[in-house]
Amino acid sequence: MTRKRLTTSAGAPISNNQKSLTAGKKGPVLLQDYQLIEKLAHQNRERIPERVVHAKGWGAKGTFTVTHDITKYTRAKLFSEVGKQTPLITRFSTVAGELGAADTERDVRGFSVKFYTEEGNWDMVGNNTPVFFIRDGYKFPDFIRTQKRHPKTNLRSPEAMWDFWSQTPEALHQVTILMSDRGIPKTPMHMNGYGSHTFSFWNNDNERFWVKFHFKTQQGHAFYTNEETAHVIGQSREKYQEELYGAIEDGNFPTWKLYVQVMPEKDAEKTPYNPFDVTKVWPHNDYPLIEVGVMELNENPENYFQYIENAAYSPSNVVPGIGFSPDKMLQARIFSYADAHRYRLGTHYEALPANTPKSEVNHYHKDGSMRFFENGNSNPDAYYEPNSFNGPEEDPSVAEPPMEVDGDIRRYEDNDEVGNYQQAGDLFRLFNEDQKKRLFFNIAEAMQGVSEEIVERQLVHFDGADPAYAVGVRAARKALNEDSEEVVA
Ligand code: NDP
Repeated sequence: MTRKRLTTSAGAPISNNQKSLTAGKKGPVLLQDYQLIEKLAHQNRERIPERVVHAKGWGAKGTFTVTHDITKYTRAKLFSEVGKQTPLITRFSTVAGELGAADTERDVRGFSVKFYTEEGNWDMVGNNTPVFFIRDGYKFPDFIRTQKRHPKTNLRSPEAMWDFWSQTPEALHQVTILMSDRGIPKTPMHMNGYGSHTFSFWNNDNERFWVKFHFKTQQGHAFYTNEETAHVIGQSREKYQEELYGAIEDGNFPTWKLYVQVMPEKDAEKTPYNPFDVTKVWPHNDYPLIEVGVMELNENPENYFQYIENAAYSPSNVVPGIGFSPDKMLQARIFSYADAHRYRLGTHYEALPANTPKSEVNHYHKDGSMRFFENGNSNPDAYYEPNSFNGPEEDPSVAEPPMEVDGDIRRYEDNDEVGNYQQAGDLFRLFNEDQKKRLFFNIAEAMQGVSEEIVERQLVHFDGADPAYAVGVRAARKALNEDSEEVVA
């Protein structure tokens, strides 16, 4: 095979890619060696800012296939008929670790799916947990600060984590999941994904429903214990990449079944829990899972950076038939995610290959970094709106039905009848004895070195969920302390 000719980035052929241009055999190097300068300058620019959260990630391309008809709830075209297939790309991630962090650390996992639908991209930007630590985006920067490095020690700080959680009782539900077996899935293939927030569906009759999304792993749940993961990380910091990439290369395509929980719009006024509170689930008995389809991952992208690092998921990417809800945390994310991408990738980040919709894109946003696209509007005179030159125009048929809201504008102290503890307690009571034991020890280990005052404040929350929860954590702490005293003796 004839090899291609090496060129500069401007396409000019390169005669020698081994030696700098020098004045004499011993140097010096000439400033006019623009090929050398281009090479060094490009290397300096190979990194972009890593995500502040969810920096470490793994992903693949795949397909979604509809298996059940949900058109009575939504007009979204991707669900329009059984058998319909939509291409997609996913990104899984840990939340706190930096780009080089070990894959199998205890953390919540991001679970993001970009569906390239015929009416634009729908991004399901979820986690492997159905709830979150806080219910109001106002607290998000503080919460994340406690998960990151201490400004002086530059180390992660269990003191900060438990200080925050112990003063944020709504975190208990998510803390319980994080410290349970599901806190370290064996691979991204062995975990569920959840939209977590409440979203909305609307159908062709303009009826609105509230909806929650659940992706159930078909590989089964599998997890590492703290002890196992210490060993795994000692062997490889890139376990998830190896496993996910390897499975797809071997043709073992992982699948997830997509289910929805659907709540009629008016029910939101009568549930004892606030259905828009992301620290709560909707119990399956109240709103059973409705099967929708299957997601299969079947292709490793040719270039990790281009398709996984540059993929920009945002809950603001919805399509007709899928909308938002009054969930306060969701609304903060609708702003924050798209804003993060504009900062991290550049103004026209949606024009990057991972993000380009497969449907037609017609907008009047103009110039800026990465303006790759042509005028595209058939007529160069149509560069503003409204215009008389046949430019793209709005389509009122895709308008969402109006959403009623009432109430005074203020900063509310909010909670509901269910409170912060009940659902965490429900989960705790689902665990068998071994699962409970591991939960107690995981918490006791995570609390090592934390001030007694903070620990005692947190134990009040465990006790509120279930007295046996607090008793178990106390006993595990005692056992760990005795063990370490024995080691010292
Ligand atoms: P169900 O008995 O119907 O469902 C229990 C759920 O718990 C299942 O979805 C199961 O997931 C999930 N689960 C099992 N182990 C863990 C774990 N370590 N971490 C997180 N989830 C786990 O109960 P309810 O719907 O009445 O809910 C009871 C509690 O279950 C809730 O308070 C909540 O903590 C938890 N839960 C509820 C979900 C919901 O949407 N209703 C979703 C996930 C958790 P799987 O079937 O995949 O094994």
